[in-house]
Amino acid sequence: MKPETIALHAGYESEATTKAATTPIYQTTSFTFDNTQHGADLFNLAVPGNLYSRIMNPTNAVLEQRLTELEGGVGALAVGSGMAAIRYAIETIAEAGNNVVSTSQLYGGTYNLFAHTFRRQGIEVRFADADDFDTVASLIDDNTRALFCESIGNPAGNVVDIQRWADIAHQAGVPLIVDNTVATPMLCRVFDHGADIAVHSLTKYIGGHGTTVGGAIVDSGKFDWVKHAERFAVLNTPDPSYHGVVYTEALGEAAFIGRCRVVPLRNTGAALAATSAFQIMQGLETLGLRMERHCENATAVAEYLNQHPAVEWVNYAALPDSPHHAVCQRICGGKAAGIVSFGIKGGMQAGAKFIDALQLILRLVNIGDAKSLACHPASTTHRQLNPEELASAGVSEEMVRISVGIEHIDDILEDIAQALEASQA
Ligand SMILES: *Cc1c(COP(=O)(O)O)cnc(C)c1O
Repeated sequence: MKPETIALHAGYESEATTKAATTPIYQTTSFTFDNTQHGADLFNLAVPGNLYSRIMNPTNAVLEQRLTELEGGVGALAVGSGMAAIRYAIETIAEAGNNVVSTSQLYGGTYNLFAHTFRRQGIEVRFADADDFDTVASLIDDNTRALFCESIGNPAGNVVDIQRWADIAHQAGVPLIVDNTVATPMLCRVFDHGADIAVHSLTKYIGGHGTTVGGAIVDSGKFDWVKHAERFAVLNTPDPSYHGVVYTEALGEAAFIGRCRVVPLRNTGAALAATSAFQIMQGLETLGLRMERHCENATAVAEYLNQHPAVEWVNYAALPDSPHHAVCQRICGGKAAGIVSFGIKGGMQAGAKFIDALQLILRLVNIGDAKSLACHPASTTHRQLNPEELASAGVSEEMVRISVGIEHIDDILEDIAQALEASQA
């Protein structure tokens, strides 16, 4: 099936007892066993089935199947937030003493997790500019467990050459994890470009309506954990926390996503509520339509800003004069999602005046809502970064970020026009 169809149909057939056409919300903590043996088989991963909703839930399973098929993988895990997804993806294969090599152009929360929380727990994250491939390769050593990047950086708006990152990762025998939140599988199927694991904040375009926080990890099943058994002993030796199972033997190509479920999720518990999975699936149904409109509107906004005398620079990878235009063509089919950033003449103060003058576009820090949103990263999401860190994250003081929504373009442009005028007063 094509992505638009998968988003509506994958993973669910009218439920046998009630014939419900829409995936029901299975609002239950637990699932009954037929008998003691059945319970034991479930715990041994010997038969498929549900145990307890911290670990799996039938509503979440439908969402997981849709995301698996949209990305073209072998399995997915829905969790409570995008941050939990990123943390669990890395914790599935890295522990104290290991390191990860990441782009520096990151979502602010991810940067904090990498630079501060992981560091205190003994996992070192080494940062490189997304386009500096020599540095990326030079940072990898025997203790590296993954490379990490965002397909389209938030808020930097850079499109990463995932293929190059994947080649470097595979040459060194490590997987590439890609945060595909901004592009979504509608614009970029990261496994087609060599990535091994995808992570998502479902809070953004996939949920799409600013109602629900959620995250997911998708496993391509392509990385050969057995070939690199020494580096990934955690997947190739008996796990005492799960009664001695060897994940690559029990789960084959789904070893990674299996351990992700039964170790980080089971033992630390950032589960996604079934009601949230249901809400997110309502959004997912229209993702294809919305992404088309987000891209169309964002292109119009970027072109408008580009010719405006009060605007110093515009950053939108789909514009022909963007330094990321060629990579955007190759990786995202020339579509750069809905996030446009720009600098206003008059620096920090003019930026603040612009934000304060907005009447339609909402002042908040989220992205990917159907409604247009605006924020000033230097004073909000990236507030804790020093000037050097701001620069390497691709954030400047005067930068304004608009997450262009699916309203009528005339109304969006009218609000931007009057706010730009106010910014120069
Ligand atoms: C928002 C976001 C996250 C974090 O997701 P939450 O659902 O807010 O935890 C991670 N990566 C990117 C690119 C994001 O935009």
